[in-house]
Amino acid sequence: MARSGAVPAALLALLLAACSGVDRPGVPATGAEKQEARRLLQAGAIPRNRQLDEAGQHASLARVVRHIRPAAHRVCQRMRGANCGAILTRSPIRSRNREINAHVDGSHRVTMNAGLLSAAGSDEEIAAVLAHEYGHVIADHVDKRMGDAGVGALGGLLAGTLVGAVICDRSDSDCMGDMAHTGGSMGLGIGALAYSRQHELEADYYSALILAEAGVPLEAGERMLMRLARTKEGRDGGYGPLGMAMARTHPANDERIARWIANRRALQYALSTGLRTDAALASEARRRALESGAAETRWANPGTGHSGVISVKKRWRSAEGLACVRYGWKSWQAAGRAGTGGEETACRTAGGPWRVR
Ligand SMILES: [Zn+2]
Repeated sequence: MARSGAVPAALLALLLAACSGVDRPGVPATGAEKQEARRLLQAGAIPRNRQLDEAGQHASLARVVRHIRPAAHRVCQRMRGANCGAILTRSPIRSRNREINAHVDGSHRVTMNAGLLSAAGSDEEIAAVLAHEYGHVIADHVDKRMGDAGVGALGGLLAGTLVGAVICDRSDSDCMGDMAHTGGSMGLGIGALAYSRQHELEADYYSALILAEAGVPLEAGERMLMRLARTKEGRDGGYGPLGMAMARTHPANDERIARWIANRRALQYALSTGLRTDAALASEARRRALESGAAETRWANPGTGHSGVISVKKRWRSAEGLACVRYGWKSWQAAGRAGTGGEETACRTAGGPWRVR
């Protein structure tokens, strides 16, 4: 038997965390946005739910599908997402389930529960959930989830064997076997759990992109996330709108809402300036970061889905009297592809242009 259960478990968790190198799409939330999200969760007002009857639910879902489906298809094609065809061929359906939930099945069909349709406060909130589910379709999460659980198990098996080699007597083959087995099953759990939290944040970001494409006000997403957080399932840990009632597969409510707010603001900024390219948005964000005095400036492109952040590390006046700023920049591609980053210093004379040193 293993001599200590606690040490290898912690070590395994660390090793597995190091294995999952998937970048989060969209921009991270600032501390202020996290506070704002917690405040909204405690005291934010949301409109009353509509308590639609069956006919009302069917009518509302039909209106939302007519509006959201073409937008989701355009976003899918533009971002070279997965299963774009399924968005057009598989019509979302309503189930009579009273749980406030929705899900995507293996054929990429979205099911919206009666409980959810009845609890929503508006068509826009239903649109936010449908767009979130299409996010899972576009990012191919249903297929990936099974693969990720397998990758986690393999990583865990390897980590367990390594830990076993360190802590077990060489002659004790039971101990080695136990460690490998423990590692494998922990990895299976951790792999599926870690990735599905990631998937929820990714689907939320796609939801925002789809709503922006459809011209639906992005604030609808916050309202729906707040509403979900106040349901029984939500209070238990932020399950959110995907039907995985088996574990806490969803990020905490405040983390989700904070990220939604961060991405909404970045996308709304792009929409309001009319800047279309990543280069223009990143350079405008850099200009604002250098001039505004803000610690962090984010950008997100509703067209490409790419995003980035400029974080100011230090401001000072040089010996020659130049104003200088040291800042880091990072950018992310949509669909979890690897991002890039770096650090630079820019200086300028009073009123002159910024020059990178
Ligand atoms: Zn989901």
